[in-house]
Amino acid sequence: MTQHSDRQLWINGAYRPARSGEFFDTHNPATGEIICRVALAGADDVDDAVDAAKAGLEQWRSQSGAARGRVLHRAAALLREHRDELARLESLDAGKPLAETPEADVDSAADCLEYFAGQASSLQGEYQQVEGGFFYTRPEPLGICAGIGAWNYPLQIAAWKSAPALAAGNAMIFKPAELTPLSALRLAELFKEAGLPDGVFNVVQGLAETGQALSRHPDIAKISLTGEVGTGKAVMRDAAGTLKAVTLELGGKSPLIVFEDADLDNAVSGALLGNFYTQGQICTNGTRVFVHRSVKDAFVEKLLARTRALKVGDPLDVDTHVGPLISEAHMRTVLEYIETGKREGGQLLIGGGRVTVPGLENGHFVEPTIFDGLDDSMTIVREEIFGPVMSLLTFDDEDEVIRRANDTVFGLAGGVFTADLSRGHRMADALQAGIVWINHYNVTPIEMPFGGIKQSGIGKENSRRAFDHYTRLKTVFVAQAPVDSPY
Ligand code: NDP
Repeated sequence: MTQHSDRQLWINGAYRPARSGEFFDTHNPATGEIICRVALAGADDVDDAVDAAKAGLEQWRSQSGAARGRVLHRAAALLREHRDELARLESLDAGKPLAETPEADVDSAADCLEYFAGQASSLQGEYQQVEGGFFYTRPEPLGICAGIGAWNYPLQIAAWKSAPALAAGNAMIFKPAELTPLSALRLAELFKEAGLPDGVFNVVQGLAETGQALSRHPDIAKISLTGEVGTGKAVMRDAAGTLKAVTLELGGKSPLIVFEDADLDNAVSGALLGNFYTQGQICTNGTRVFVHRSVKDAFVEKLLARTRALKVGDPLDVDTHVGPLISEAHMRTVLEYIETGKREGGQLLIGGGRVTVPGLENGHFVEPTIFDGLDDSMTIVREEIFGPVMSLLTFDDEDEVIRRANDTVFGLAGGVFTADLSRGHRMADALQAGIVWINHYNVTPIEMPFGGIKQSGIGKENSRRAFDHYTRLKTVFVAQAPVDSPY
């Protein structure tokens, strides 16, 4: 792939221009420069993708699960073969450090394809003998599913949505985020090389209107969105018009709780990972770090020492820990939150400003930032910032921290660091979150269900549970006795 040539839409197993002939630009967040122009899909292109998906679906859903699994296995192997190239592409388009993308993006996507390749032949119904006969159930594919992605994990999101959908016998139309459209196209090319029939995976790049055309399309059975809470509500409203099923992976403001008996070095590792990995642009981040008062000073000392050592810089340099934020506009939003934190009385312990990286003066770099002296009502403690900004909070006892941790509209994730495993499980029970990590943070093995509750989302991705969201159950009754008619 030539990274600087125009990119077209991927429909029916091939590139083609948008009907309107329109394009938008995708930028390198480290330099602000345009990488290439990308075709802009309109509603008519979405119609074409739906027609292609209908044709592809007929062929795909009639194959055995094992046959579908073989294609996904080959696709996973191709991702691994192209690991370096894909990691560089993701770092270029999303600004994510090259120290992260091979593992967190490419391996995660390949793991997912492999997992669902293995699961594809395991979809089973049930059988039960009842009065007058028996019934059985058939888990059937939904049909055409649409995936709409966020910009922070473009390839991973495309894989997390397409792998279970395709394994279950669906076709997918994927809309990557406007800011990171490139890797989904490469995935489409590799799917084709792996033997996926044309039309089974299509990519329509575009803006919110393209997403809307998917959510409102009468022939699309399901939407799986990763995005902001507001977008989730808009998609759900649009999907309601045709009663589509929705999976929503939305935002968060998750608590990371450090008890007095925690291994503090380990807890600091969790807090750093849960706030500064991918420049803090991770939905599950533990951005409210509650630390028990008795260990607060020791925790802060270790935290600051390790934060000082983080290297902000060129994402294509493997020594870089923190790359640029995704866009100029997003950087402005994050810097504005930092100003709000200061204005509302927060005490800045470290960071707080834009960083100018030599040679990359137009990049959107922001220092890893930590606030203390906060109270729970402050804006930066309540709202998702989606940048490298950690809020430190102090607590005295377990009931208090549970109440404060749950005092949010979000419910994506939570973390608990403690040596007392009973307390760990008690906290897992008490926290209103879709995922709780005990003595870890942000690990997401593909075998583990992933998804939020409250306003952080609906449904689960990954694990066998994902099949529940990409299949529907048909019940078949078979009589073993004549109809006992009263007429
Ligand atoms: P957005 O909600 O802005 O966008 C997500 C996707 O939805 C994009 O492809 C976007 O298109 C599209 N879109 C926007 N408006 C509409 C609409 N009305 N109808 C249909 N589609 C629409 O999220 P971001 O891309 O800014 O990603 C950041 C957000 O994603 C954060 O809130 C983060 O927490 C959340 N997120 C959640 C995850 C989870 O698994 N729970 C994981 C990762 C991120 P366009 O790009 O053109 O605007």
